[in-house]
Amino acid sequence: MPREGAPPPPTRVLSGIQPTGRFHWGNYFGAIRQYIDLQSAGESYYFIADLHALTTVRDPARLRALVHDAAVDLVALGLDPAVATLFVQSDVPEVTELTWLLMTVTPMGLLERCHAYKDKKARGLSADAGLFTYPVLMSADILAYDATVVPVGEDQVQHIEVCRDLAGTFNHLYGEVFTLPAPRLVEGGARVPGTDGQKMSKSYDNTLEVFEDPAAQRKKIMRIPTDSRPMDAPKDPADDSLYALFALVAPEAERQRMADLYRRGGFGYGEVKKALAEAAADFFAAARARRAQLEADPAAVEQILADGARRARARAAQVLERARRACGLTRSAAGGPRT
Ligand code: ATP
Ligand code: MG
Repeated sequence: MPREGAPPPPTRVLSGIQPTGRFHWGNYFGAIRQYIDLQSAGESYYFIADLHALTTVRDPARLRALVHDAAVDLVALGLDPAVATLFVQSDVPEVTELTWLLMTVTPMGLLERCHAYKDKKARGLSADAGLFTYPVLMSADILAYDATVVPVGEDQVQHIEVCRDLAGTFNHLYGEVFTLPAPRLVEGGARVPGTDGQKMSKSYDNTLEVFEDPAAQRKKIMRIPTDSRPMDAPKDPADDSLYALFALVAPEAERQRMADLYRRGGFGYGEVKKALAEAAADFFAAARARRAQLEADPAAVEQILADGARRARARAAQVLERARRACGLTRSAAGGPRT
């Protein structure tokens, strides 16, 4: 919300991704690609959400590796550190302090209604306070950078509403401290099917990874179970998940050709799988080459993250200072020095 008389806030895009496993096609086509497309829409901040990941990854060496790999993957996929600020969530401790300030204005009932927690409860699983308060940390992630635009999938819209709610309450109590963000539903983020036809998801063990070795991925693709409709029966490409996967990675002309084949019938799924494996290897070839270069120079990647953290912290420190001053945590109303 613009402060009265102030010009409208500039577009500031923020998005984060959890380093809880290697990125798969669902993550890329459903989220990462759209985030990267927005990097030059204004100022942009992209963070690797290691604090969120802590609620599921309990192995320190694995977490360290996943964070580094996520940075390598994002840059290889086109995130440009000269344009966007790429950083690791926990490198900005201001965010955790801000989380506490927000926690003091968060009604329990609001969090009880949030679906990540509700779903876990409904399945009879015990949740820790980290999962319960996840939306508050996510709110701090957004508010710390005065983000105006947060690209999200359908499942995260509720959390943006929580963020707006908390920011609104804080502003109401203490004055206009926080900028209210707007969710931006990512386009083309349609549900990517996994190798078993369900939604592709780490938890279902049905993923095709973005940076899987092409030979290994080809084997995986060749093993995808297919239905037993007779080979010469025409099929509707729209309700076949092999076709859906192919359409993501194949050039337009090949997509058309394959759709025609489906409608005509008289082809084998083996043919489709081979074409899919080839199209996938080509689609990610340039990114794979960039990834190999980055992987050979881990210090350069860490430098990118260090630069990103410095830029992100500079902004988060200002926002936190505004919030501390507003709620009386500084010794003078003008804000005392803080070391
Ligand atoms: P988990 O199994 O732990 O839920 P996941 O594999 O579903 O993991 P997430 O971390 O939940 O991955 O998702 C990260 C981002 O990728 C989210 O924005 C989510 O909407 C998107 N995403 C994940 N899977 C798919 C999919 N199959 N189709 C489209 N988008 C997806
Ligand atoms: Mg998921």
